[in-house]
Amino acid sequence: MMAMTNAIVISEFGDSSVLNFTEVPTPTPAPGQVLVKMRATGVNFIEIYQRKGIYSIPLPTVLGAEGMGIIDALGEGVTNLEVGQRVAFTDGISTYAEHALVDAQKALLIPDGMDDLTAAALPLQGLTAHYLSSSTFALGPEHTALIHAGAGGVGLLLIQLAKLRGARVFTTVSDEFKAELAREAGADEVLSYDGFDVRVRELTNGRGVDVVYDGVGQATFDRSLMSLAIRGMMVLFGAASGPVPEFDLQRLNSGGSLFITRPTLWNYLLTAQERNWRWSELTEAVISGKLNVRIGGTYPLAQAAQAHDDLAGRKTTGKLLLLP
Ligand code: NDP
Repeated sequence: MMAMTNAIVISEFGDSSVLNFTEVPTPTPAPGQVLVKMRATGVNFIEIYQRKGIYSIPLPTVLGAEGMGIIDALGEGVTNLEVGQRVAFTDGISTYAEHALVDAQKALLIPDGMDDLTAAALPLQGLTAHYLSSSTFALGPEHTALIHAGAGGVGLLLIQLAKLRGARVFTTVSDEFKAELAREAGADEVLSYDGFDVRVRELTNGRGVDVVYDGVGQATFDRSLMSLAIRGMMVLFGAASGPVPEFDLQRLNSGGSLFITRPTLWNYLLTAQERNWRWSELTEAVISGKLNVRIGGTYPLAQAAQAHDDLAGRKTTGKLLLLP
């Protein structure tokens, strides 16, 4: 009889009601892949874009790319991993499930001192915060950065990594509880979204910030540009409030010879060496107590729809995990 596993399947684009908890055949690892029995699955904003059809994906499918678990079976030719090992990953295949596949070369080894939920929470948002702060715009003590949604999954990690690199950090949040979390993470100035560009100018004696990390998108983009210092860098890395409409490149001129980039994680994990470098820096920071990973909510796998609604509804802080 064919082995079956529980998963969240989507067969059409739409609101969270299209997330259907059902049985699917347990996947079989192809050559070079491993089968993982999931212990925790990361929820990320990209799955909301995919569910809505903003990012096109073939249907039906099981969503999800991030998480951690125990290796259950090895595909042909896998020699770098063993059955029973704990692994985390940021580019697993269909991880909203009890079992998922991972390319053996992309599995991330979990240090002994790290618990399962932290290991599941760290890969996608952690590697993102790492590449944004160290590579897209390499922060140093001479820089001031504005980070939007500072109490979110990426936000809390990015504030901490920016502070570890010595930068002065401003952040926006939408309520007092989130403000408190952002302060605990080390933000120097916590701002409301209302008039944040004006406040940034006041706090920098009119100069503006060197970089804005903007994962909110539509609602903040214009004023993010207006917050930048001459030759500042706009890092648009997401669209939690909706996609940014086309804009006139001339604005980069009038804003002060500005730079703009729209980066994505996969372009900053180009080689095994790059992936392992970022992962080892992150895990060492966590183990040594320099980087705190906040798990803002755990949900049974069957309640993935609730997790999506909470994340899209700005009700969450830190990382959300699904537990199979
Ligand atoms: P968050 O935990 O940050 O959740 C999103 C936050 O955005 C909310 O909590 C909310 O914080 C803020 N927000 C502002 N306006 C809205 C709105 N209209 N609707 C919903 N949220 C809003 O999510 P993630 O950490 O998972 O992701 C943050 C961003 O990073 C996303 O845009 C995501 O797509 C992007 N991302 C990009 C990657 C890349 O490589 N390019 C990789 C990973 C993530 P508040 O209430 O304080 O405003």
